[in-house]
Amino acid sequence: MNIVVCVKYVPDATGDRKFESDNTVDREGVDGLLSELDEYAVEQSLQLKEKLGSDGGDSEVTVLTIGPAGAVDAIRKALQMGADKGVHVQDDAIAGSDAFATSLVLAEAVKKLPHDLVVCGMASTDGGMGVVPAMLSERLGLPGATLGSSIELDGQTLKIRRDGDTATVTVEATLPAVLSVTDQSGEARYPSFKGIMAAKKKPVETWSLADLGVDAGQVGLEASYTAVEETQARPPRTAGEIVKDEDGSGAKALVDFLVSKKFV
Ligand SMILES: Cc1cc2nc3c(=O)[nH]c(=O)nc-3n(C[C@H](O)[C@H](O)[C@H](O)COP(=O)(O)OP(=O)(O)OC[C@H]3O[C@@H](n4cnc5c(N)ncnc54)[C@H](O)[C@@H]3O)c2cc1C
Repeated sequence: MNIVVCVKYVPDATGDRKFESDNTVDREGVDGLLSELDEYAVEQSLQLKEKLGSDGGDSEVTVLTIGPAGAVDAIRKALQMGADKGVHVQDDAIAGSDAFATSLVLAEAVKKLPHDLVVCGMASTDGGMGVVPAMLSERLGLPGATLGSSIELDGQTLKIRRDGDTATVTVEATLPAVLSVTDQSGEARYPSFKGIMAAKKKPVETWSLADLGVDAGQVGLEASYTAVEETQARPPRTAGEIVKDEDGSGAKALVDFLVSKKFV
């Protein structure tokens, strides 16, 4: 069973995230890391591999990312968690790509890899659109089972539980398929010391757009169907209102505040 897990390299949310003058995210000058929501995708891929392994099956987990030079760190983290090998699609022409172009490059990369199951996170922690998995399944012509909170594999049948606000649905698909998993799908493991050491020897290939046969004119900011028109820094947090309850009026002041904010 060949599992390809797609992970995004995103600016560290605890760091100082900046935008370039063309309103794209500064991905070079800031620390980046494996998108937290994609750790769940790696975890579920490894659990499927282990389950298949315990049934005597032979599986491989390939981690795939599109990103600048630093994105290899996202691959390293997934290899340390237990993935077997990595593919890094790196090409300056990709910078500023919208979801449409990202899904195109991802699809062409997946087509070059043996793939029975393509696993994604529910959304990235920077763009946060949550659309790439569906776009990927469309481009690959494969069924898309998205937003799985529990994942089961029975032979060639993939079964997920998707928890909605008003209902829980079970979605089934026949492999090969595209799957996205939520942050409710189970805690992601921390790399063990053994895993960190083993990752140093695991292979990582670097591919360009030419390797994928993708014309640079189809990707990047110029080819983007959408553009971020303007960015505004969020106003600095204020200290907030402090209520001193010296005469028992604290509770009333609190309720008045909650009412004024329409919280109650
Ligand atoms: C603030 C901001 C706003 C944006 N707004 C838009 C917009 O309105 N329209 C638009 O088209 N684009 C927009 N983009 C660009 C968009 O973020 C990128 O195209 C991105 O690569 C795909 O969208 P996403 O990060 O939202 O992915 P999502 O759709 O949230 O991604 C879901 C999953 O797809 C996989 N995936 C996503 N990107 C990669 C990658 N580079 N490598 C490997 N796997 C990946 C991961 O498994 C991830 O969990 C925006 C970017 C930013 C930072």
